[in-house]
Amino acid sequence: MSEILYVSTRGGSKTVTASEAILNGIAADGGLYVPVSFPEPGWDFNVLKDMDYRELAYTVIKEFLTDYTEEELRACINAAYDDKFDTPLVAPMVNAGTSWYLELYHGATAAFKDMALSLLPHLLVTAAKKNNVKEKIVILTATSGDTGKAALAGFADVEGTGIAVFYPKYGVSKIQERQMVTQAGKNVCVAGITGNFDDAQTGVKKIFTDPAMQEYVKSKGFRFSSANSINIGRLIPQVAYYVWAYCRLLKDGVIAPGEKIDFTVPTGNFGNILAGFYAKQLGLPVNRFICASNDNRVLTDFFDTGVYDKNRRFILTESPSMDILVSSNLERLIYHIAGKDAKKTAELMTGLQGKGVYAIDALMKEGLCDFYAGSANTAEMREAIRSSFEKYGYCMDTHTGVAAAVAAKYMKETKDEHVNVIVSTASPYKFTASVLRAITGDADENEDAFALADKLEKLIGVKQPATVTTARTSPVLHDTVCETDKMPEVVKSFIDRL
Ligand SMILES: *Cc1c(COP(=O)(O)O)cnc(C)c1O
Repeated sequence: MSEILYVSTRGGSKTVTASEAILNGIAADGGLYVPVSFPEPGWDFNVLKDMDYRELAYTVIKEFLTDYTEEELRACINAAYDDKFDTPLVAPMVNAGTSWYLELYHGATAAFKDMALSLLPHLLVTAAKKNNVKEKIVILTATSGDTGKAALAGFADVEGTGIAVFYPKYGVSKIQERQMVTQAGKNVCVAGITGNFDDAQTGVKKIFTDPAMQEYVKSKGFRFSSANSINIGRLIPQVAYYVWAYCRLLKDGVIAPGEKIDFTVPTGNFGNILAGFYAKQLGLPVNRFICASNDNRVLTDFFDTGVYDKNRRFILTESPSMDILVSSNLERLIYHIAGKDAKKTAELMTGLQGKGVYAIDALMKEGLCDFYAGSANTAEMREAIRSSFEKYGYCMDTHTGVAAAVAAKYMKETKDEHVNVIVSTASPYKFTASVLRAITGDADENEDAFALADKLEKLIGVKQPATVTTARTSPVLHDTVCETDKMPEVVKSFIDRL
């Protein structure tokens, strides 16, 4: 097996190993790490289909992380995909009507972010050891809800790390806040800030780049790192479940060997769907990736016209993890369809930073043929949730609802008859009020979030995930609330405690 190395999409930094790319997170020139070339595993899916999730994850991930030994990688994977997941399948496939749902929300925090954030801490600690990094790692994260809890759960009590999460005190859902402030672990810090998500994000970036702060953490034997979705250590673990989904269909006789399938992916930062595209580059038989957006349809317009234009109104929807105008992982796709032209990619990204817009040429547009994009508004999302529950008794969350609505439109419009796998990214219990409203037509905004969870449980007959019941009954362990400019002090006193 040949070694896979990584380069920046913008061409301005040196080639690094997988473990170095994971340690660095973002390349020094501001670009994202991409593999110099894709592995060519030559998979026999008839063999892969009999593997359990861990074995399959190892088989897929080892293709990319070639400087990790088998022992190291297996240890990381075994620690990640254990009984934190509420089913030994890890990512079950469920059939409802003409669609299959790949449920990625059975991990510790009931959101798909767990698939990667359960593994990243172990990859990171192993990378530090391999590269003789003596400092311990402190993760700083700003969150608008899902990422914070998934990162906390992933890093809690992982030797050699600490994690501090900042969230907008008045900008996350009640259940999301309770999930975070009840987080146990001797290496965790959670603080609300009085500003919004952008303030939290800016505050974190300032701490990262402040020389005095860097000096301070270094003197204490630490270094900063980040767990956000541009780290290839978050992207690569996601490739595995696309292969897994294909193998489930093959094993159940739904598809014949070699038959191509479609995936519909509710998309925000473009990390999830890009992992699918990577799986296809390694030989997974995929016809199309259907990129689903909500009313923030910047990606839909991009795939339709070849023009990416973020100059538009930001719309708050009931699928908040897809409320995004700059999809950072799209940069990787741009690089690949530009024929690995880093100069071209850097130019386009400069355009995005400056004017907020760029246009790709006709040749690059041809490279988008693996994709179809569509959007669904709130009414369409609700209808998708309601009709699936009424016809098949299957309940999905609002993000998955957007994907199901777009998949239905796609099939109607194109008459595409490939098996369609809808990638399901969150438990309906994370968005109880919205899901109840979709199914029953009303839900009292002012009613206690946990009471609404009980109502939903009665209605759909699916047990609430442990993270929701635990958040309800566990003691609050973190009550720090600060102004944005006090964030460095919070981090300092956290490091003193570590
Ligand atoms: C993060 C998230 C998404 C978007 O995934 P990307 O990889 O950012 O495209 C969709 N749904 C849910 C529930 C999420 O948490």
